[in-house]
Amino acid sequence: MSAKRGGSSPADSPWELMRLAVQSGSPGALLEQAMTPFFIGHDFPRHLRVRCSSLDFDVRYWYFWLTDVPLEEIPRSAVLQRILDNGTDVHTRTQKVLYALQQAQSDGDMVQVDAVEGYADTLATKEIYPGVALSGHADALVTVNGTPYVLEIKSINGGDWRQLKDQPTLKHQWQARGYTLLFDRPTLFLYESKDTQRYKWIAYDPSPIDMMALQTKLHALSEVLQSQTPPPFCDQVSDSVFPKYTIGSCAYCPFQRHCHEVGQTGHEEEFAFLTNRGEQHARPH
Ligand code: SF4
Repeated sequence: MSAKRGGSSPADSPWELMRLAVQSGSPGALLEQAMTPFFIGHDFPRHLRVRCSSLDFDVRYWYFWLTDVPLEEIPRSAVLQRILDNGTDVHTRTQKVLYALQQAQSDGDMVQVDAVEGYADTLATKEIYPGVALSGHADALVTVNGTPYVLEIKSINGGDWRQLKDQPTLKHQWQARGYTLLFDRPTLFLYESKDTQRYKWIAYDPSPIDMMALQTKLHALSEVLQSQTPPPFCDQVSDSVFPKYTIGSCAYCPFQRHCHEVGQTGHEEEFAFLTNRGEQHARPH
């Protein structure tokens, strides 16, 4: 999750500089000038879309995202950053191999790499319900023995890798449901163990019930957007006294403070009590 949001004036906005670069007769120098702010901490504009990779998040999170609530800074430890970087490395290495495989393949091969991330074909956005656009970014599109798949590369630690059986993790199942809506293909997950670099392959074709769960969530999101009513606390935290301070999924949520301030419709008295009590608790910064 990105955190900071920019506040530059129109005169020095990168988009204004980019526009000037295009109009200019000296595009190289102006283009460099336009790009420079992005290397020194300027934030990219937030896309107000529901991302497949975080479809497991609940309606309240997405309501805040789509209504452009400012993101809070979430401290990221050096250890977590190294873990994320390792995942990126696994992606990059695997995609290089897929690209090479695509260059080497011939018509009629059992395995066809249709597109690797970076091709327009691997990007998709579709408005599913009013105000709710779903976007997905597939690692690759492949066809194996005549069946088309979205290919999703995942690196996981050894404990999780050993627990994987014949189903992807629930988070990844949600992601694949989104891909089914966008790409109309099942998803083939490639899990690589971070400890041993061994692979597990799991094909996941969401059932009609799985797809109904996704449609229900996106429809609920569309309804609360139209009524402009913040939905209840996310499911996984709704029975918690102070969810944002005590539950892991809230700890990394960039809407913690806003979520707390908004409270929960239908629980005003309870929430006022909790808010008063909450002043005694240390708040994370
Ligand atoms: S702080 Fe927790 S309950 Fe609130 S939007 Fe984030 S994840 Fe949901």
